[in-house]
Amino acid sequence: MIYLDNNATTKPSPAAAQAAHIATTTLFANPSSIHRPGQEARRAVELARQELASLLGVLPRELVLTSSGTESINLAVRGVLEARTNRKSAGPQGSARGVQTSPPRAAAPPPTIVTTRLEHTAVRDLAIHLERQGRAEIRWLPLDSRGIADPAALEALLDSRTALVSVQWANNETGVIQPVERLAEICRAAGVPFHCDAVQWVGKMPMPEALPCDLLTFSAHKFHGPKGVGGLWVRRGVGLVPQTIGTQETERRGGTESVAAIVGAGVAAREAAVWLADPAARAKVAALRDRFETKIVARAPAATVNSQQCPRLWNTTNIAFPHLEAEAMLMLLSERGLAASAGAACSSGSLDPSPVLLAMGIPEPLAHGSIRFSLSRDTTDAEIDEAIEIVVAAATQLGRSSASTR
Ligand code: PLP
Repeated sequence: MIYLDNNATTKPSPAAAQAAHIATTTLFANPSSIHRPGQEARRAVELARQELASLLGVLPRELVLTSSGTESINLAVRGVLEARTNRKSAGPQGSARGVQTSPPRAAAPPPTIVTTRLEHTAVRDLAIHLERQGRAEIRWLPLDSRGIADPAALEALLDSRTALVSVQWANNETGVIQPVERLAEICRAAGVPFHCDAVQWVGKMPMPEALPCDLLTFSAHKFHGPKGVGGLWVRRGVGLVPQTIGTQETERRGGTESVAAIVGAGVAAREAAVWLADPAARAKVAALRDRFETKIVARAPAATVNSQQCPRLWNTTNIAFPHLEAEAMLMLLSERGLAASAGAACSSGSLDPSPVLLAMGIPEPLAHGSIRFSLSRDTTDAEIDEAIEIVVAAATQLGRSSASTR
């Protein structure tokens, strides 16, 4: 099977897989234990944390290790929201112990979360969930005609009710890069915390000298680490209420650490840093992606590339096959040995077109037949050659049967 779906990058590197495998049997002691095996496990966790911090260019103690990008996002969004609510309720309305000293006022409107319709479901659905619970109100950040968040519009959305802005660095379906540095600048000027979902960025793109945001989410399985390790970087001074109570992670995320997976994640971070140090390596895969796009557009009937004019990650392409259903195409591709996906993996299997593509202004008939292909640093020329033939043959076959029923 040729993996040109999200799993292209989620395949653990041999070194990361081996390190995690060995740690499973050698570092099984609880890293919170005082005895020597426990302290060896602790040391392994802290070494891995150092590797992850070094990939991000931050201090190890600023990282909260979690089980996934999704958990990190929940910690960031819920944690900041709760910290704000706590601050407000300890304000002039209550004494330091939270005892009411004046009559209660009518319920204040909930705080707002500013985000985009392009976010991964981990952010988008969480924001919608919090809104339904009455704990927050969403303000959707407008996008320009290319589907890029509009910094000028952000300024207008920020006010004293804004608890948090959350915008992804790069999109999982299209690879489109958002202007997070500019958005973060605006948030900083307004004194609003800015969370960046950098799951698709970390390990694939170099980090700037200083992180532009206040909180940043990453996930090890997106850079060839094992599944089950995510992280949240939190700038010192940012108020965050833990969402899983416990002593671990300096009381910011309770639960015994998944030592073996964290060890594997540390190895993956070190390898990613080495790979990122050579811009030619990225350019090589980008050229493969470009060749893939050019050949498909030239040979598959009416195929077009979504968001081709936007700044994009080197590894992602999203191609529309008009008149075709993405699900039928995915099944045929899979039968012929090519794994790809439509929309986010968690929403594949549904017949609805990707909300991300619709939010980017891609017309519904095109979004229905759009397929996302993701390359990894390991994708080879031969795989791309074979994938081109598989995609062209599948699109031609489905195009014929679709034309006969139209
Ligand atoms: N954010 C983005 C942009 C993603 O692509 C993903 C996963 O694909 C997530 C968040 C969720 O990360 P995880 O799978 O580690 O929960």
